[in-house]
Amino acid sequence: MTVVPAAFLGHGNPMNALEDNRYTRAWRAFGRAVPRPRAVLVVSAHWYVHATAVTAMPRPRTIHDFFGFPRELYDVRYDAPGIPELYEQVADVVHPTWVGADLDSWGIDHGAWTVLRHVFPDADVPVVQLSVNALEPPEQHLALGAALAPLREDGVLVIGSGNVVHNLAAVSRAMPDAGFDWARRFDDRVRELVLDRPAELLTLDAHPDHSLAVPTPDHLLPLLYVAGIAEAAGARVEPLVDGFTHGSLSMAAYTVGMPPVEDGAVVSAGAG
Ligand code: ZN
Repeated sequence: MTVVPAAFLGHGNPMNALEDNRYTRAWRAFGRAVPRPRAVLVVSAHWYVHATAVTAMPRPRTIHDFFGFPRELYDVRYDAPGIPELYEQVADVVHPTWVGADLDSWGIDHGAWTVLRHVFPDADVPVVQLSVNALEPPEQHLALGAALAPLREDGVLVIGSGNVVHNLAAVSRAMPDAGFDWARRFDDRVRELVLDRPAELLTLDAHPDHSLAVPTPDHLLPLLYVAGIAEAAGARVEPLVDGFTHGSLSMAAYTVGMPPVEDGAVVSAGAG
């Protein structure tokens, strides 16, 4: 089986689920370029709870975990199957960290389906989510990501879904496609670190713009899982797309271990 890549995707506004823009086109291009995985494991900013858990239901429901959006967004369903047997495998690789099997509380949240609708529009790849445990320090999220790295060899595509810079209180309607200076400085620093020495993302707490860029850690932590995979696998991190919306939302996305490109086309790898 081919080793599948991993990715961090900045999901931004949930309306991206329905839109066609440079970010959603980048997510689609990523989905077309990856060797077809056996399953997707999404680490979403929106399952930020006081536990480490993996969804383990056969038919995860689509969760509309937001308020005040148009009706058409509440009508979106992402009917990918679950893959309950993946729970054992995840529990195994992250041992001795304990991980619970969630049979009925979660499903596929908008952090996951906003991007998955574009990455795998046919919803035909089984999806599980891994929660982000709010009680754990950043080091533990990086370590969990590193522990997940071997799953790539078993056809599991890990996607971290969040945003490098995410400050809803600072959102500016006057800046639809631009970022504040502080947001750009922080985003640039993250790019520098993640491309060359991903484990050093742990030093970001000391960055002068950290408190504005990361008022709460939920949207940045999914990047640490992908960074952990890159560190553990010694795999190359590459930018997929970058940019800002409304001043304070970075849409930066990164891939880890993408197959090499030859003759202008991604080398097709055997599906499994
Ligand atoms: Zn979000």
